[in-house]
Amino acid sequence: MYLKRLEIAGFKSFAKKSVFEFTAPVTAIVGPNGSGKSNVAESIRFVLGEQSMKSMRGKRGEDLIWNGSQSAPRSNHASVAIVFDNSDKVFDVDYDEVSVRREVFRDGTNRYFINGTQVRLRDVVELLAKVHIGATGHHIISQGEADRVLSAGVKERRMIIEEALGLKIYKWKIEESEKKLAKTEENIKQVESLRREIAPHVRFLKKQVEKIEKAKAMRERLKDLYAEYLKREDVYIRAQKRILEERLAEPKHALGELELRLDEAKKKLEEGKKESPKAQELVAIEGEITAAQARRDEVFRALGKVEGMIELVMRRQTHAIPAEKREAHIPLSKVKHFTESISERIEAVLNHGSADMLRSALEEIKQLTERFAKTVSGGASSEQGRGDQGPENELRALQKEKAGLERDLAEAESVLASLRKRYAAIKHAIEEEKDTSRDVERSIFQMMAKKSELNATIQSIKNEIAIIEKREQALKEEIREGVALIGGDITMYETFAISEEEVLAEERGRQEARRKEIEKIKIKLEETGGAADDDILKEYEEVTSRDRFLERELEDLKKSKESLKRLIAELTETLNTEFKSGIEKINKQFKEFFALMFGGGTAALTVVAQRKRRRGDTDMALNLSPDEDEAEEGIDVEVHLPRKKIRGLQMLSGGERALTSIALIFAVSQVNPPPFLVLDETDAALDEANSRKYGDMIENLSKRSQLVVITHNRETMSRAGVLYGVTMGSDAVSKLLSIKFEEAQGYAK
Ligand code: ATP
Repeated sequence: MYLKRLEIAGFKSFAKKSVFEFTAPVTAIVGPNGSGKSNVAESIRFVLGEQSMKSMRGKRGEDLIWNGSQSAPRSNHASVAIVFDNSDKVFDVDYDEVSVRREVFRDGTNRYFINGTQVRLRDVVELLAKVHIGATGHHIISQGEADRVLSAGVKERRMIIEEALGLKIYKWKIEESEKKLAKTEENIKQVESLRREIAPHVRFLKKQVEKIEKAKAMRERLKDLYAEYLKREDVYIRAQKRILEERLAEPKHALGELELRLDEAKKKLEEGKKESPKAQELVAIEGEITAAQARRDEVFRALGKVEGMIELVMRRQTHAIPAEKREAHIPLSKVKHFTESISERIEAVLNHGSADMLRSALEEIKQLTERFAKTVSGGASSEQGRGDQGPENELRALQKEKAGLERDLAEAESVLASLRKRYAAIKHAIEEEKDTSRDVERSIFQMMAKKSELNATIQSIKNEIAIIEKREQALKEEIREGVALIGGDITMYETFAISEEEVLAEERGRQEARRKEIEKIKIKLEETGGAADDDILKEYEEVTSRDRFLERELEDLKKSKESLKRLIAELTETLNTEFKSGIEKINKQFKEFFALMFGGGTAALTVVAQRKRRRGDTDMALNLSPDEDEAEEGIDVEVHLPRKKIRGLQMLSGGERALTSIALIFAVSQVNPPPFLVLDETDAALDEANSRKYGDMIENLSKRSQLVVITHNRETMSRAGVLYGVTMGSDAVSKLLSIKFEEAQGYAK
């Protein structure tokens, strides 16, 4: 691979298209001051992707475009193309030539092309990096830049050397990894803080979910309890209702019959209470009896009188008896009449038995006894007075009268007797009637008692039915409540298998215990609430999956943090190793070139440790005190001039410095030779003798890298295979011409 061609158009002073063909190992570009030679070196920087305007002596992209002159108008864009030979396929492109082109426009936009295809800057950088051509261009040593490697500080020097050694890739990778690490740590913090933020919510939701799960378990338990309880209750209620209805039928029927009988009995009783004709008959007969008694008494008294008179007559007929000795002779009929009258009264009282009647009977008895006593004493006196009278005629008349009266008496007696008989008969009939209605009354009482007994029985059964119906209501209510708690599953109880016998055989207390347990669970469920169960579960699922995601992410981040740290350590290790071996190699060359340049003496790069305050890595800072520093390695240059006791760079003359820096640049480029090297007046400060040595080195270097030298030095020009002259006329446009060495010498100082 080698540099074939450079095409410049509209770039800086190169208003028109100028083409450099690099056909020899060393190409020299010569020309007067200000003709545009350095612009050529800058055009190479530009096309290789240089982003630093400063290194191209501009401020903006526009500064790189031909700005016009009095005779030539300005361009609106600059274009530079560099063409490499790729016949050995060093570039990963299937062409024998690789051309890279860059354009810049006045608005600052850049366009990049590889073999005519527009690409990104990145693609250009990647393409070139493979052949060790960097945009920062350690292979392009600008005017005055050779000294930079000497004037730089140890740290900057190290950077220059690292870049020249091609270690920039490690640096860059380390930086990238550190950026990634910082970003990862930032992400870790963010994820941790996110997890901290959602943690209370997760905890809260977890508790809620636990509650929901508990409630779910309770509902399951409730479902089982309900199935048995409700089924038992249902079976029990149905059975009880049926049993009670059956029990009710019998007393109801009995009551119906009883009521019919009772009505009948009541009717009968009513009829019995109506006024009986027998009582009136009895009253009439009583009147007749009184009349008959009066008639008999009257006849009786008359008979007594007649008998008394008969007796008197008879006594007078016999003898006279002194009054004090006389005994009263009372006719038997009188005595009989007296006793009968008395017993009649007594009997009447006994029959009727009222107090008033008793009193009047006693008075009557008193009168009867008084009258009887008078009769007795009257009999004795009349006997006295009429003892000496009594004719037979009088006696016969009296006896006749007596017989008539006795007949009357008998008749009266018989009437009275028959009346009494009738009276007794009617009385008996009345008594009998009374007995019958008393029986009816008694049976009514019994029936009434029975009725209220039946009613009580019916009522008590009805009460039981009412209780069962209440239970039925309660069951319906329970099912309604159950639906609210466990939903449609409540109806599962219907399939719970249990027989009526089992249900009825169980002691009711067991069922009550089941109800109490159901109540307990219901209360607990009510306390739990659980309206938005699904929402909470969903949210919990979301939040926990987010948390899990964050957890995984955190793990991944921590892993990648660790692997980044490892990578950084590895890269740093590689960098340090490569750097050290690079330094060793450079030193070997540096020493040779230096000795060659100065005809002796030694020079070497030394790695020096610089203390630097550490920043950034907080994890590591935890292990260190805040003031602890980290050693950072820089590069120092040690020189020993032959025959001189000069040791420090600052003591070197301008020429000595130039030689030293050239020796160093060449040494570096030899360790890791770039495909080409552009040297812009690196030889400016050299005297003739040193110019020769420089020329020798150029030739030496050109064996490994193609060289483009911008020079005013004759010696250098003499070593070039191709010479280009750059001139600038009155139009301020750089012009390019291929010239011979003799012509070139005209531009030598
Ligand atoms: P020396 O030998 O003195 O180092 P040189 O040949 O290297 O000089 P350069 O520095 O390459 O010269 O060229 C500088 C010239 O380029 C100046 O005359 C400057 O005006 C011109 N120039 C720079 N930028 C532009 C631009 N954008 N448009 C036109 N001319 C430009």
